[in-house]
Amino acid sequence: MSYEIISGKEIGKAIRIDLFERIQHLKKQGITPGLAVILVGNNPASKTYVSNKQKTCEDLGMHSRSLTFETDLDESDLVKAIHSLNQDPEIHGILVQLPLPEHITESKVLAAISPEKDVDGFHPISIGKMMLGQDTFLPCTPHGVMKLLEHSGIQLLGKHAVVVGRSHIVGKPMGQLLLQKDATVTYAHSKTVNLKDITLQADILVVAVGRAKMITSDYVKAGAVVIDVGMNRDENNRLCGDVDFDSVKEVASYITPVPGGVGPMTITMLMENTVQSAENELRQDKSS
Ligand code: NDP
Repeated sequence: MSYEIISGKEIGKAIRIDLFERIQHLKKQGITPGLAVILVGNNPASKTYVSNKQKTCEDLGMHSRSLTFETDLDESDLVKAIHSLNQDPEIHGILVQLPLPEHITESKVLAAISPEKDVDGFHPISIGKMMLGQDTFLPCTPHGVMKLLEHSGIQLLGKHAVVVGRSHIVGKPMGQLLLQKDATVTYAHSKTVNLKDITLQADILVVAVGRAKMITSDYVKAGAVVIDVGMNRDENNRLCGDVDFDSVKEVASYITPVPGGVGPMTITMLMENTVQSAENELRQDKSS
C-alpha cells in the first residue's frame, strides 16, 4: 500500500509564514506579542523545550521572556510570579513548563494563570470551554494534530478515531477535538484489554503513550491514518515515536514521522495562541 507522509515540519512552516504577517500587523498597531515561559529546576529535556520555544518566538519577531527558578522554589512564590505576569502588559501568553517538582501542585499553578493568557490551554476554564465547543485557547499538541489532519485534507465525519492515551494534556483533549469534527471516538489506555482489537478498527489512529515503537503494523488497519504523538529515545538514543514507522508505513495511508511530525506543530500552535491573545487585546483596546 502506498502511503503519504504528513509533514509537521512543512505544515508548521506554512502556518508560521501566516503568523509572521499577523505579527507584523500587530506591531504596526503598537503591540508585540509576548510569551513568558517559566522553568522550575534543571530537567535537561525541559530546558531544551524552553529554549526551542524562545528561539521560535525570536524567529517570528515576538517578545520572549524566560523565568528560571531553582527546584526548591516555594509554590507560593511561583504563584506570585504568575500573578505578576498576569498583570504585565508586555506578556500575552504564559506557559509553565511541565513537569513541575513533586512538592508543587500542578493544578494550583496552572489555575493561577489568567485564562486570557493561558496559551497552553490547560486552565480549567479553557478545558471547560473546549468541552463545550466554545471559543478558547486549545491545548497545543491536540490542536496541532487537528491542523495536520485539516491541511492533509483528511475527512473526519463518521470516521472511527481511536486515541491511545488519556492524559490531560494530549489524549483527553485529542478525543474531544476529534468528536467535535464528528468522528466516532474510542479512548484506549493502560487498562484497556485487547488493545490490538480496538486499534485495528481505527480509520484514524492517534497514539500518545510514551513507549518507543509500541504500535507495530499488526495494530493498524490497512489504509488507516496514523498520527504519532510520542517522543522517545530508541536503543541507539535516537528520537523515535510510539509508532514503529518502518513497519506501519507499509499498511497506513497517511503517517506522521518522528521527528518532524507532531512536534513542530505543538510549538507552532503555542505561537498561534500567543498571537491570538495579542489580537484579542487589540480588539478589546479598540472597543473600550
Ligand atoms: P502520559 O504519561 O501523561 O500519558 C500516557 C498515556 O498512555 C496514559 O493515558 C496511559 O494510560 C497510556 N498508556 C501507558 N501505557 C499504555 C499501554 N501499554 N497501552 C495503552 N495505553 C498506555 O503522557 P503524555 O500524554 O504527556 O505524552 C505521551 C507521549 O507524547 C510521550 O512520549 C510524550 O513525550 C509525547 N508528547 C509529545 C508532544 C509533542 O509535541 N510531540 C507533546 C506532549 C507529549 P493510563 O492513563 O491508564 O496510565
